[in-house]
Amino acid sequence: MPYPFALPEVGYSYDALEPHIDARTMEIHHGKHHAAYTTNLNKALESHADLQKKSVEQLVTDLNAVPEAIRNAVRNNGGGYLNHALFWDVMTPGGAKEPSGALADALERDLGSLDDVKSKLQAAAVGQFGSGWGWLCKDAGGKLSIVATPNQDTPLMQGKTPILGVDVWEHAYYLKYQNRRPDYVTAWWNVVNWDKVAARFGPGR
Ligand code: MN
Repeated sequence: MPYPFALPEVGYSYDALEPHIDARTMEIHHGKHHAAYTTNLNKALESHADLQKKSVEQLVTDLNAVPEAIRNAVRNNGGGYLNHALFWDVMTPGGAKEPSGALADALERDLGSLDDVKSKLQAAAVGQFGSGWGWLCKDAGGKLSIVATPNQDTPLMQGKTPILGVDVWEHAYYLKYQNRRPDYVTAWWNVVNWDKVAARFGPGR
């Protein structure tokens, strides 16, 4: 997608994830927070025509190619731009309520049962100190792992491709869950669309 980067659509109505994720949170999260990451990413790149030709993925995976003066802005806002686009997608209403096929096989092989996968991702997300994300990722060989990242860092910065992620910034849950981050993540599992995760996983190699 060419510069200036557009705010990605959620793809469904803000109330579609009720009661687990409330409409007001979705409205503010997408319309204000994700919009601000998008605006600020564009602003950071305003006078850098060479960087405007790159994809956001390219920008955040090669931060050394970004001038120091805007490096943190690109890191935080480029990460925020990508992370939220994935987040809306994997919560798309409908779809499979549990993994199957190649993804289920790989999860079992690398992380254990679905309950194991959920408890490991939940522990990573809940244990992330301060703001950040919990992720299910695949590496270049198709191996799956659980990681947490601070702030808006993406696993792409570690050479891993995120295929499922949960936002544990307070703005993602505070209106409905206040300080109860574990309750939010527990409820979030109800809106995960495993067909979307499987599409990001691909054939498995
Ligand atoms: Mn967020």
